[in-house]
Amino acid sequence: MLLSVLPIYLTEVDEMAKKEQTPKIYFLDVTNRDGVQTAKLGLSKLEKTMINIYLNEMGVFQSEFGFPTTRHEARYLEANLELAEMGVLKPIRLEGWIRAIVGDVKTAFKFVPNIKHLNVSISTSAQMLKGKFRGKKTGDDIIKEMTDAVDAAKALGAESVGVNAEDGSRTELGFLVKFGLAAKEHGAARLRYCDTLGYDNPFTIYETMKALAENVVMPLEVHCHGDLGMAVANSLAGARGSVDGGQDVYINTTVNGIGERAGNADLVACTLAITKSKGFAKKYQLGSPIKLTLAAKIAEFASYAFDVPIPLNQPGVGANAFAHASGIHADGVLKDPENYELYSYKELGRGKPKFVETGREIISGQYSGVAGFRHLMGKMNVSFASRDEAADILELVRYANVQSHKPLVEDELLFIAKYPHIAQKVLTQTPLVLETV
Ligand SMILES: [Zn+2]
Repeated sequence: MLLSVLPIYLTEVDEMAKKEQTPKIYFLDVTNRDGVQTAKLGLSKLEKTMINIYLNEMGVFQSEFGFPTTRHEARYLEANLELAEMGVLKPIRLEGWIRAIVGDVKTAFKFVPNIKHLNVSISTSAQMLKGKFRGKKTGDDIIKEMTDAVDAAKALGAESVGVNAEDGSRTELGFLVKFGLAAKEHGAARLRYCDTLGYDNPFTIYETMKALAENVVMPLEVHCHGDLGMAVANSLAGARGSVDGGQDVYINTTVNGIGERAGNADLVACTLAITKSKGFAKKYQLGSPIKLTLAAKIAEFASYAFDVPIPLNQPGVGANAFAHASGIHADGVLKDPENYELYSYKELGRGKPKFVETGREIISGQYSGVAGFRHLMGKMNVSFASRDEAADILELVRYANVQSHKPLVEDELLFIAKYPHIAQKVLTQTPLVLETV
């Protein structure tokens, strides 16, 4: 009896071990870096903080939370690292983006001494060598600059350094492998393959990512843009290439796909594609689950903060994503939602009633007074010990409003009331002393 059970038992253990070894897919959101680089758009430092908080709640592995070499980012970055220390921004990893230059690494640690994770970026394509660096740099120079930057970051205490091959999709594969191997040798944690111009298609990016995984043998990141309308499809295919090549992969996303030019791969759409598309999740799985129930919330917040409407037909979160008008579809979906819906609106956190004030409205602004503010916060069940305390919090709310130029949402007001000292840091901007004029 025992003998007949044993082989089955061993097979199950083997199967489990194999499952554990299967490379996984993670998300690395770059809204607070690529998203805010978008022409005509931007976020206040408090809005960036809220994005980090929502990403953390959703279970996103990492947020590229900003630019540690930019002076006006420094206090926001430090304050968010403090939130991480406090356990508020945990377990999300907060990582800063810089150019792969030793000088930038030094500046990053000078402005943001507590920074622990960095991604260093440099262009790798022949086009950029010729067109951007004007032929003054060779491929070897690029590799040397990158490895020097990795060494410097490690020496200054970085716990992890990712290396970005900008314009990777127009870079010769052999050079990308050489670049990746050099990064690995110098202790980089990951190689980011950037389809900077959205030039790849799912077939090409699959092959490239698989080849990189097999030849560089280190975890990869895939960073896609939507210039040809394929950012999500390319991210999926790239992730599959990396997993098939034996390596974990980190898909770069932004909320609502907001990013330079035609934008980046959308976080919610990528999550849906990985978990819901035909047969994909059987083999290609997320390393940690994403709470899709927060999808509507983060999408709506980003839309409000960027002042960019969510497209009507946006997957999952657009106004029409679950709307049915034609008789056949309406009848079908009422009989059984699965007739015409791939997933439920409830899974995305939709369907809850929303309170919309149609009468008198007291809102927060840069000239608000204490009485109105206490009334506003009272509606959220927040009361203050004294008038002075309310006035202090209001002062922070006024500053936040000066930066965002729009009434704060409930979560922002609650955040300021709960963490006034962090909010104070996030909101503080001190321009450098002018020495020449
Ligand atoms: Zn980008």
